[in-house]
Amino acid sequence: MAGAMHDDVEEILFTPEQIQARVAELGQQIAADYAGREPHLVTIVKGSIPFIADLMRAMDITLSLDLIGVASYGAGTTSSGEVRLTKDLDDSIEGRHVLVVEDIIDTGLTLAYVLRNLRQRAPASVRVVTFLDKPSGRGTAIEADYVGFTIPDAFVIGYGLDWNQRYRNLPYVGILKRDVYAGPL
Ligand code: 5GP
Repeated sequence: MAGAMHDDVEEILFTPEQIQARVAELGQQIAADYAGREPHLVTIVKGSIPFIADLMRAMDITLSLDLIGVASYGAGTTSSGEVRLTKDLDDSIEGRHVLVVEDIIDTGLTLAYVLRNLRQRAPASVRVVTFLDKPSGRGTAIEADYVGFTIPDAFVIGYGLDWNQRYRNLPYVGILKRDVYAGPL
């Protein structure tokens, strides 16, 4: 049904134009910080796909790209805390300057797991860029080095972020209507 996807959005937080402007800025800042070093972008799929596609094109330096997949057990809108690897990297990161690219940090458990896993592989350095940061949900003392936008405690969708694998293709970031995932009150 045409338009149905947008009908599930309570409120738009960031428009496509705001996202493009912020990601371009972030890409330039990161590229400047990595001048003289070649970053290896380890992207956490699937939520970070639109972000990495835009971010890497905003970085006018030599870089390389790999993908890693993780899943946290459980469905719904809260993280269960148990994380497992669903797709490993193609290439070794030993001695490389790794930049982890994440869609959103909520509790921080996913990122903590990924960082623990990557640090065992002896990279030269590891930094983190996240498109969205939800500091109110944090259960661990973990922070990203670069943050696109800080958001309040709400379940958001779009620009890669899903609910039950849907809404990743929304060109904006919005808050999902509560009755979509919680049912009528
Ligand atoms: P954490 O482990 O930091 O609690 O959660 C990280 C993962 O949970 C993200 O990579 C994302 O898949 C999911 N997540 C956390 N908050 C949200 C949210 O507001 N919206 C969506 N769509 N996913 C979220």
